[in-house]
Amino acid sequence: MPRPDVLETLVSLAKRRGFIFQSSEIYGGTGSVWDYGPLGVELKNNVKARWWNAMVRERDDVEGLDAAILMHPKVWEASGHVSGFSDPLVDCKACKARFRADKLGDAVCPRKPSKQPGEHADCQLTEPRQFNLMFKTFIGPVEESASVVYLRPETAQGIFVNFLNVQQATRQKVPFGIAQIGKAFRNEITPGNFIFRTREFEQMEMQFFVEPGTDMEHFERWKQTRLEWHLGLGLDRDRLAFHQHTDKELAHYARAAFDINFDFGGTLGFQEIEGVHNRSDFDLRQHQEFSSKKLEYVDQANNKRYLPYVIETSVGADRVTLAILVNALREEAVEGEQEGRTVMGFHPALAPIKAGVFPLTKKDGQPEMAERLASALRKRFPVFYDEAGAIGRRYRRQDEAGTPFGITIDSDSTANDSVTIRFRDDMGQIRVATSRVAEVLGRYLEADHARADSRLVE
Ligand code: ATP
Repeated sequence: MPRPDVLETLVSLAKRRGFIFQSSEIYGGTGSVWDYGPLGVELKNNVKARWWNAMVRERDDVEGLDAAILMHPKVWEASGHVSGFSDPLVDCKACKARFRADKLGDAVCPRKPSKQPGEHADCQLTEPRQFNLMFKTFIGPVEESASVVYLRPETAQGIFVNFLNVQQATRQKVPFGIAQIGKAFRNEITPGNFIFRTREFEQMEMQFFVEPGTDMEHFERWKQTRLEWHLGLGLDRDRLAFHQHTDKELAHYARAAFDINFDFGGTLGFQEIEGVHNRSDFDLRQHQEFSSKKLEYVDQANNKRYLPYVIETSVGADRVTLAILVNALREEAVEGEQEGRTVMGFHPALAPIKAGVFPLTKKDGQPEMAERLASALRKRFPVFYDEAGAIGRRYRRQDEAGTPFGITIDSDSTANDSVTIRFRDDMGQIRVATSRVAEVLGRYLEADHARADSRLVE
């Protein structure tokens, strides 16, 4: 049974709660370009920080980099993007829509959505022609062919051209990797499905340089490491699957490639969120040839020099964020209440806001006590203070924001200096001394808990 399609529900929740807005909405919107609102930017930053920690900070064999978006145009000749980074485009002369010839099976005919393009009696599809996906612009004031530059369609090339700079500056020995997070741009023919496929997006890429002959062993290791990273985000195991590239899908230089696919539900189903590729020495060899600069690694200990092979892990920050949103959305019934609730059950470490602080009433010094607590907690993590409306509604708003903990200050709080912590996932509550709130929440965050569990409060 396919999982339900939740994208429409998510698009409206994302707008209502401030996760994601359509770009330039007041002008009618820019197609397939999205802006991250207050909650969205926190969520995506948490995803990126988790990746950076796992890939760079917690390892001694991967270095960080932040290369520029604009690069020398020859980079894209060497990489093969100028000649080959294209998708086959077909036009329909009847309805003027455009489709990717290799994805017609996933597309719908605008005149009859139950049919695919080409199946309606009026369809007039042209022969496919290659359409280059790179955005072109000009450097300097003169718009001429000599000043053409491209917005990078992937972050990887910034790593390849800096391979020796990083290796020499850090004195890393092969095997080692270089990682970076940054924007990439692709003039996609058929963007869509919310932030799944957009024309401007962020990639988190790592190139691991290894001695030829050891590449498949590193490839297998990175495949597993990356799958575990996704599991660590709280993505359900049965929504994740490897997809091995067939000979037809494999790039000509690639020795092996696996995608990590996630089940987005509905007609989208399982789709790539990350690629793990064995790229051989293709990229370094191309750059060596086009730049006429030697890019060999010198292994002094073993008196060898060679062009390393590259194992690449390439994941979209936006696509993973969408997977997290899809995975987190729960619409549940609540016992004893007519209205159910919508909960974003994020892993607490990813939740944009960690705690909501609520005075039960606006009297008896409760707001003052709540504000004091909120500002003390803000030094540790993002906190939302809310005194507006019935307490049940305030809880529901934070459930939709995915906030794991709600702290309520009531009339007992001012009398005996204690508060209630309410947990998002089971709505269970515990009572703790005000002075211990930060420490207790810290324990739950570390234990990845958003359920009442008194064992953590001894
Ligand atoms: P697809 O087949 O979906 O076009 P791809 O195989 O071209 O993707 P890669 O070039 O391997 O993708 O890019 C690595 C990752 O970057 C993808 O797994 C995805 O998470 C992300 N990505 C690629 N294109 C887009 C896009 N247009 N919008 C959002 N994320 C993207």
